[in-house]
Amino acid sequence: MFENRTIERIEKMLDSAMDGNFEEGDYDESRLSRLETKWKKYLATSQLAKNQLDATKRNLESLIADISHQTKTPMTNLKLYAELLGEQIDSRTDACEEERRLISEIRSQTDKLDFLIQSLTKMSRLESGMIEVKPEKADVAAFVKGVVDSMRVAAGRKQIAICLDRDNLTVDCTAHFDTKWTREALSNIIDNAVKYSPAASTVMVSIVPYEMYAAISVRDAGIGISEEESASIFERFYRGNEAAGEEGVGLGLYLAREILRKENGYIRVKSEVGKGSEFTLYLWRG
Ligand code: ADP
Repeated sequence: MFENRTIERIEKMLDSAMDGNFEEGDYDESRLSRLETKWKKYLATSQLAKNQLDATKRNLESLIADISHQTKTPMTNLKLYAELLGEQIDSRTDACEEERRLISEIRSQTDKLDFLIQSLTKMSRLESGMIEVKPEKADVAAFVKGVVDSMRVAAGRKQIAICLDRDNLTVDCTAHFDTKWTREALSNIIDNAVKYSPAASTVMVSIVPYEMYAAISVRDAGIGISEEESASIFERFYRGNEAAGEEGVGLGLYLAREILRKENGYIRVKSEVGKGSEFTLYLWRG
């Protein structure tokens, strides 16, 4: 039988360990039973492991902040110089085709590098918990309309219309989601629908309020995804065999899935090669 005082002391040890402030010095060795001594050793070790983990996390956070900060100026300068060089070449009457091709290549590779650094820092911040996804109750139709409206111009460059059914706009449906991050997820999905569809096609967006989840579907009439590939498309840096001709780094779907997961939602895909794809984001209604 344990003495009450022993049980109380063990409980106190556990409480302070769970609060992350267990210190060996707080407990007087001479008063400890064998069991208490074992508890003390175990808790001291796990406190040490937690401290080490916290320190690693802090290091990672500052490393990411450094990468993001230190690459900003060289990246801006690279873009500026490429722009200046491009203008010089354009203004010269004796400039040859090869010069124009090279400068256009430098511009596009610089943009790609910039996009890659931004995506990588965003992803690491999200994964390490530096950026929290904070779901709050919000109106789904107003949110979807905002995202769709902001993407119409870019889609228009490929003569693609993004259609949001009028009935959907009056759907009375709320869900728990972080508007900023879910905007990123939905934009990535709509951006892909536009990217992997032929010019002058239509991308359909719709909302269905189920009991547990609000479903936002994005349907395109594009190249589609084969069954073998659909298992891999959410992986980090995965790019489909047919995607090589399009810009991208293979992080859009990975990020979208991570974001939805952090707000208790999920993403599903249905697709048929040559016919099109439908991505559905399920937002938790709470
Ligand atoms: P990225 O578009 O930069 O390649 P993503 O992570 O957004 O990266 O997508 C991963 C892959 O999934 C793409 O390379 C492409 O093969 C495939 N994919 C995504 N969306 C679609 C779509 N709407 N239609 C066809 N293929 C798609």
